[in-house]
Amino acid sequence: MNSYEAEIRSKPCPRCPVCGSTGKIFYRDLEDAFFGVPGKWSSRKCSNRDCRLVWLDPMPLEEDLPKAYQNYFTHHGSASARWIEKAEQSDSMGQRLYRLVKKGYHRNKYGYYRGAVEGWRRMIGYLAYVHPGWRANLDSNVFYLSAIPGGRLLEIGSGSGQQLKIMCELGWGAEGVDRDPDAKKNAESKGMKVNLGELGEQHFPDNYFDAVISNHVIEHVYEPENLMREVHRILKPGGRMVFITPNIGSFGHRVFKNADLMFMDSPRHLYVFTAPSLKRLAVQAGFDKAKIMTTLRHSGSLYISDRSISRTGHYDVGSRPPLKDRLGAKGLQAVELVVLQLKPCAGEEIVLIGEKGFGR
Ligand SMILES: [Zn+2]
Repeated sequence: MNSYEAEIRSKPCPRCPVCGSTGKIFYRDLEDAFFGVPGKWSSRKCSNRDCRLVWLDPMPLEEDLPKAYQNYFTHHGSASARWIEKAEQSDSMGQRLYRLVKKGYHRNKYGYYRGAVEGWRRMIGYLAYVHPGWRANLDSNVFYLSAIPGGRLLEIGSGSGQQLKIMCELGWGAEGVDRDPDAKKNAESKGMKVNLGELGEQHFPDNYFDAVISNHVIEHVYEPENLMREVHRILKPGGRMVFITPNIGSFGHRVFKNADLMFMDSPRHLYVFTAPSLKRLAVQAGFDKAKIMTTLRHSGSLYISDRSISRTGHYDVGSRPPLKDRLGAKGLQAVELVVLQLKPCAGEEIVLIGEKGFGR
């Protein structure tokens, strides 16, 4: 018995869990480059041109999944989230300008801060359109959601509670669900409401939320279609599901030497989606209106982790990168901007926006 069988047990999974097609071996014997979970992991890529999902085969047993998260960063608030927070509070020219642009942009595009943003600030908000990296961040910051004052919002996998706090400050009645008791405690220390356990265990009423969001969660979920069905049930008609997840069909996946380690994040990513496979899943789960786009957010951080893994075989999540890596990351983002004009599905992250219809 090799080490991963002793640690995390698994079972064969030869068919695509989204469309049922066969798949070819995609990666073999990947190891965990981030949190040191022992074991080697292989994956398949779906042969269906209109899907192309990548999934683990063998697939970990559901009951053994918690073993993959023992050192995981959401327990105590992610180091990278702290780094971003620190950067956003920094006094560099770029960051000061970014903060000025942020409120105006959110007012102009999404209707937040009504009556609280002066005219000159609204004008400055339009500067976001000349910096696509900022715009990708600013849109994700509010999960592409227009303001609904007092609207009910749920975040699945709310982790440290940082995003919940942002949404509450923007006027949402936001709460989270997370299976990690330490994450719940951490978010509660920020004054956030978090329900412990899986989504299905919460028994929320039908037609209850205006929005359900998640960031880099769906690729970790054992039965993602069932999760989306439950989201569909608890959303009000016209309510929105906004899920953000890594894109295995991205430009970065093609060009980075260590793309295999970063995108698979073995064994925590059970599935890594393409834009068509994620859309298909949403439609199967009942979202007739499902919109998909991809963005260049995280192309910079992928570059930085790729450099670090090349040098040391490891990336310490949240560590401060050297200047030349930070500059390289910016360069890559510029290249990716051009690529996205030619191939709209090649961004590093997929954004799925599913709207619940009024018919059922
Ligand atoms: Zn498939």
